[in-house]
Amino acid sequence: MGFPQEKAERVRLTRESILAPTAFVGIYGLRKVELHWGQPMSLSNQVVSFDIRSSDARKCLVCENTKEQMSRYLSQATEKVICLIDDQDYRLADKGQKGFSSPLPAGLYFIPQYFNDSVIDWSYQTGRLYDSLIYIHGSTSSSEVGLTLTLAHELQHFVQYTTNHATWATNEFFQELKVTHEDEFRRSVDFPIEREARVVSKRVAIEMHGRVVVEDFIRRERDRCITGADVVDCDFLLSPEADVAYSAREASRALVRRFKPELIALQAQNPNVYPEVAPLILTSNEQF
Ligand SMILES: [Zn+2]
Repeated sequence: MGFPQEKAERVRLTRESILAPTAFVGIYGLRKVELHWGQPMSLSNQVVSFDIRSSDARKCLVCENTKEQMSRYLSQATEKVICLIDDQDYRLADKGQKGFSSPLPAGLYFIPQYFNDSVIDWSYQTGRLYDSLIYIHGSTSSSEVGLTLTLAHELQHFVQYTTNHATWATNEFFQELKVTHEDEFRRSVDFPIEREARVVSKRVAIEMHGRVVVEDFIRRERDRCITGADVVDCDFLLSPEADVAYSAREASRALVRRFKPELIALQAQNPNVYPEVAPLILTSNEQF
């Protein structure tokens, strides 16, 4: 899942949250817990700042290992991302959501308030601390394979958003085609950025945990699915298609070529939807 689909709800910023003393400590209800910092990682000339907040050192290690396995993808990104691993579940977990990625400051509206201090410099002297955040629910992170699959999926969305914004935004715009082409955009994996995130996450999870363990986990998840869409997702991950290398950029270009007249018309009707990239995408594939 990329951005939360629900309507944005402004996080209430209280005097207490603004005055909370340190980014190293989060408040879980009335309970204070230590949060661990991940190490910034350097990749050739590029630097991706990747920090982790979790009360569980074991989960931090899984995140660090996932990050290492993602190096080949992250090496193209130069922005700063923070990974928030919750001990409990927040909104939308009961609807099957496992986690999400979001640029900041928009992402601030979708995370529990006790993580705010990890994301924002309340003094406003240094500006925002990160460019994007990844949030993962407690129930998702309780399994090492589940945490790996979800973190790798969301990290791939971070890579898509930061390294090929046109492809990412085009996929958001493809949502408009669901109305007239319901059968072709029925599943999440019908959208290139979602399919690519699943292919990458499965590859990373297999590299870390082995194919048998990962596919057994997905089969058990399938039995516990809350929604039909989740079952479809698990079926895709278990299918041979999920093992085939896939480029969201190439697939998105193909969709733009195929639906170009419709997309141009939709863009004209909705000029405020991704105005910064839609005209470029719809007038020239070279802009991808
Ligand atoms: Zn996704």
